[in-house]
Amino acid sequence: MNDSTGKAIQVEGVCKRYGHVSAVNDVSFDVRHGEFVSLLGPSGCGKTTTLRMIAGFVMASDGHIRINGRDVTYLPPEKREVGFVFQNYALWPHMTVAENVAFGLKLRKRDKAFIRNKVEESLAVTGLSGFEGRLPRQLSGGQQQRVALARALALEPQLLLMDEPLSNLDRALRVAMRRELKKLQQRLNMTTLYVTHDQEEALSMSDRVVIMSGGEIVRVARPLEVYEDPQSEFVADFVGTTNFFDGIVSDIGEGVATVKVGETLTLRVGNRISAAPGSAVRVLLRPERVRILAERREGANMLAARVDFIEYYGPTLRYTVVLPGGEALFVEAHDIHGSAQIGETVWLSIEPDHFRLIDRKGAPV
Ligand code: ATP
Repeated sequence: MNDSTGKAIQVEGVCKRYGHVSAVNDVSFDVRHGEFVSLLGPSGCGKTTTLRMIAGFVMASDGHIRINGRDVTYLPPEKREVGFVFQNYALWPHMTVAENVAFGLKLRKRDKAFIRNKVEESLAVTGLSGFEGRLPRQLSGGQQQRVALARALALEPQLLLMDEPLSNLDRALRVAMRRELKKLQQRLNMTTLYVTHDQEEALSMSDRVVIMSGGEIVRVARPLEVYEDPQSEFVADFVGTTNFFDGIVSDIGEGVATVKVGETLTLRVGNRISAAPGSAVRVLLRPERVRILAERREGANMLAARVDFIEYYGPTLRYTVVLPGGEALFVEAHDIHGSAQIGETVWLSIEPDHFRLIDRKGAPV
């Protein structure tokens, strides 16, 4: 299945229009052989439509789709040699779980012992051993979803397209299945394109993440880059939680800029700054990058703040604090025992390198 480009999927300038509605607009990206790529974005951003165009269930209005170097833009799904798991499981209602999973293998005329083995293995991976004889209507939504997954995995496709395959599972099962799916994908070196609106799922499973908004791609990067260097307000806000400050660069020193926010807040901001003095910028800051100090300290990026709200998440606490100029700030703390109370003043410290700067239009500076 190797072609000269090393690309399993190539999407080039693909559009999908429904009358006047542009569902997907000029989308281009690649998936390399053996790579796990996620399409991530909010509801309605065009992820499913993009995946369905690659699978062949939706015809592109424009552009080209290549699979293993072959132009498949106008080929029907069955000629594209891809496996898929969609949100609506499409199980055969009159067939048992085992028969559903065996179905594709039977079509491929594999021998009985091979089929029995594969069915057993796929059901074990998806946590469904013991459910072989049940009919789909005797299963919960999450179990049906796993049967659909097992059915696709049994065929060991070179290329697997999945649309929110874990969305109906409870959290514990979803996290366990993520891990199983990822291990299997690595063991079989299975090229995978995965649609999700769950940022944690995308970050934990993917080699690269394609982030979509309003039918367009806004970012393609490795999970760490997406989170640590979001490069836009949309990505920063969609992938994780972010604090924003609007300010003006007042001075540029050696790799550190001074940004004035309102009347009272001055931030020392490091990190490859290319903004000129006087530029209007937006400063991004992840809540877990703010440190709560044990005692009062004065200096650059040491801030006094009043605790306004506290949320307990188990492993962490999230404080909403208010700075003297009225700016609200989320602060995530791991020390859940030394917790400050609402109304108290706390002292915060922020490393200059932990800020990210973008311009007011949302582009990095
Ligand atoms: P979700 O996470 O909610 O499934 P999505 O990102 O997968 O969303 P799509 O299902 O790809 O989004 O839809 C993208 C846009 O295209 C939406 O605005 C949707 O309303 C529109 N759309 C999708 N299918 C059709 C259709 N058959 N006719 C008209 N508009 C459509």
